[in-house]
Amino acid sequence: MAIDKQQLLREHPDIKDFLDLKPTLWLNPGALANDQIWQHERFTIEDIEASDADLHRYAPLLEKVFPETIETHGIIESPLVLADKMGQVLAEKENFSGHLLVKLDSELSVAGSIKARGGVYEVLKFAEKLALENGIIADKDDDYTKLARPAARQLFSQYKVQVGSTGNLGLSIGITAAGLGFKAIVHMSADATQWKKDLLRKKGAKVIEYTGDYNTAVAQGRKESDADPHSYFVDDEKSATLFLGYAVAALRMRKQLKDLGIKVDRDHPMFIYSPCGVGGSPAGVCYGMKILFGDAVHTFFVEPTHCPSVGLGMATGLNEQISVKDVGIDGKTAADGLACGRPSGIAGRIMKPILAGDVTVDDAKLFDYMRLLHDTEDRIIEPSSCAAFAGPVMLFNTAAGKKYMADHGLTPEIMKNSIHVAWATGGSKLPEATVKEYLNTHLD
Ligand SMILES: *Cc1c(COP(=O)(O)O)cnc(C)c1O
Repeated sequence: MAIDKQQLLREHPDIKDFLDLKPTLWLNPGALANDQIWQHERFTIEDIEASDADLHRYAPLLEKVFPETIETHGIIESPLVLADKMGQVLAEKENFSGHLLVKLDSELSVAGSIKARGGVYEVLKFAEKLALENGIIADKDDDYTKLARPAARQLFSQYKVQVGSTGNLGLSIGITAAGLGFKAIVHMSADATQWKKDLLRKKGAKVIEYTGDYNTAVAQGRKESDADPHSYFVDDEKSATLFLGYAVAALRMRKQLKDLGIKVDRDHPMFIYSPCGVGGSPAGVCYGMKILFGDAVHTFFVEPTHCPSVGLGMATGLNEQISVKDVGIDGKTAADGLACGRPSGIAGRIMKPILAGDVTVDDAKLFDYMRLLHDTEDRIIEPSSCAAFAGPVMLFNTAAGKKYMADHGLTPEIMKNSIHVAWATGGSKLPEATVKEYLNTHLD
């Protein structure tokens, strides 16, 4: 579709910073109060609980196939930790109040990123369906470790599981599928880093490399998969299973907050900052948070200034009908996990009444935040994940952020009790040499 940039800007003056590649906080005019949201939405708390129950059913199987999950009894979950030392630096250098926390999805087992939530779930659900249809298990009360036996592996080896990815979704789907015995095929965009391709091949997945972007890799992968009746395509832009797998994070977080003795209510608001590519995983996570915490939670996506795809899609209402390239933005960013020029359609529509806003961040800051987190908290997460820290900085230091707090009755008193969760979406599988290189990267 041909898009007239000047015309679009006249109709939506609030996209100016996106077009100018300027770090910004865009406030979502479609956001509604909690009591008006749910009539517009399709997934319920029961759907999320059902997915959590699925994951508990799959747990014994996961322990068998991925012994690294034995410690957590086959449940893949990440720590939620306080990062007050980093919060202190932000308060001194920028302007910030409340508590900073980091949700370490970077440490999720199997995939080392947030994709372990949706990706592992979707592959297991497909395996379950095949196992039920082919009598490997009799019903959902049967012993799921049967899915790790030779008869099941023989069955799975007749099927391909394919996915298009900039890296982490590919790792998650590829490792899980290959681990169960499927033929795993990952279509990788040009943005994918070499170590992710190497790791996948080591795990037994086939990696097909593209010179094009994420959307090219997905389109080609989908085409090849659709032509083969024994192939299952994991569709990041349409999958309800992936979405619900991400949303389960909220149930787990509720318990973690309780265990940490952290209250979340109107006088103790929680802010979530989620690095965003096509929008699938942050939408799932934030949706779950909103269902559980209602008006007490404020959810923000964070994107690179060179790839504000979900922000642009939501601000113009065009969602997946617009790519950043349509308005002359190159989509090039060091945040490989966020390099998706065209947003997912479901993410934009589902988040319309929920999302508080979209923050954009310059690439240079990603490496600054990576160093800061390393120096203050001794933790390593990948550059894409570091986008999250731009969230609180922009909330407290921009006119839009101040307006947001004022409009929502978030007084300085209340903000002292606020918690700010930076969602660390990936990083534990980074090779040491890559970590060193990133820590020494200074862009401007
Ligand atoms: C996948 C991913 C995200 C979010 O991506 P979506 O495409 O919006 O689901 C953010 N950070 C990292 C490191 C990721 O792998």
